[in-house]
Amino acid sequence: MKLKELGEFALIDRIRNAASRGKGVYVGIGDDAAWVRSKRDLLLTSDLLIEKVHFDLRWISFYELGYKTLAVNLSDIAAMGGTPDFLVLSLGLPVDFKVKDVEEFYRGIGKLATQSGVCLVGGDTSRSECLFISAFLVGHAIHGPVTRSGAKVGDELYVTGTLGDSSLGLDFLKRPKGKRVGKGISYLTSRHLLPTARLKAGSILAKERLAKAMIDISDGLLQDLGHLCRASGTGAVIWQEALPLSRPYERLAGGNRGRYSLTGGEDYELLFSLRTGDRGRLEKVRKSLGVSVTRIGKCVPSRQGITVTNGKGKPLALSQMGYDHFKGRSHTRVPKRLQSYQA
Ligand code: ADP
Ligand code: MG
Repeated sequence: MKLKELGEFALIDRIRNAASRGKGVYVGIGDDAAWVRSKRDLLLTSDLLIEKVHFDLRWISFYELGYKTLAVNLSDIAAMGGTPDFLVLSLGLPVDFKVKDVEEFYRGIGKLATQSGVCLVGGDTSRSECLFISAFLVGHAIHGPVTRSGAKVGDELYVTGTLGDSSLGLDFLKRPKGKRVGKGISYLTSRHLLPTARLKAGSILAKERLAKAMIDISDGLLQDLGHLCRASGTGAVIWQEALPLSRPYERLAGGNRGRYSLTGGEDYELLFSLRTGDRGRLEKVRKSLGVSVTRIGKCVPSRQGITVTNGKGKPLALSQMGYDHFKGRSHTRVPKRLQSYQA
């Protein structure tokens, strides 16, 4: 059945019936506004996903798209060290879409919502030319949120997980199906299609007051490091040899090895700064974070900008980081600090 046959209100009924009930929700989907309870400071975040701009239905399924929509919003809450609570989700839908596809989208949302303790409490629905998704997530910060601005010169820089998998995965997704067989490829594509928000790591790093500044890596390490440094008023040195890479990435990245790990987007790992004296305390919680954590560099005075050094301690040129290959692609804009470094 197509959406134009089902109609808006019957669709909303289906969405309501499929949505799970949540803690602290007095009235969810079905009234003029959701009514929820909150006694704490709130974290609010919103993301827009537009077909052909942010995703392409040729290589992402509706289920994956639903899952990813929630994951990218969860990642922003994780980056503040918070806990997610309520989701408001608005959709622009072409009338020729199949009802089944929209249900699959909500199945993806529901899967991750259940896993992460999030309740879908409302949204809006309209017809549109292409698929248009606007998600608004409400969370709370028990421990006091970690902002981007708390890093100091001398802090060490860490990342969770591995870098570059998502962009390399996207590279494979764009190839014909027949050219996507081989060990490790499905790992890389799944990092792109079903990313993991590092909620547990974020909240422990906040609770233990270990992360002094934190950001999630959505636009590539260097880009997001640039945001953290600007907010904190520092520069940074990144040791390229220290960057954590997955085995499939190491095997399959080839000539892209350097550039995707530095500038590839959508890994949704956390980047945070740590006072050197807190290293011992980080070791104590390391096992409970649910993901590996790797030291990749340090904060330096802001006048030194951001540099990436190779194994011999020599700074890389912008071209070695892959910037020249990518001009015009949004997730690889050259951060201001790198531009000044190059000059
Ligand atoms: P209104 O006329 O006030 O916009 P709607 O008929 O659009 O009301 O929505 C009715 C209920 O369904 C509201 O609770 C709204 O939050 C919810 N809702 C509408 N669209 C969606 C959606 N795409 N996902 C989840 N909830 C939705
Ligand atoms: Mg409406």
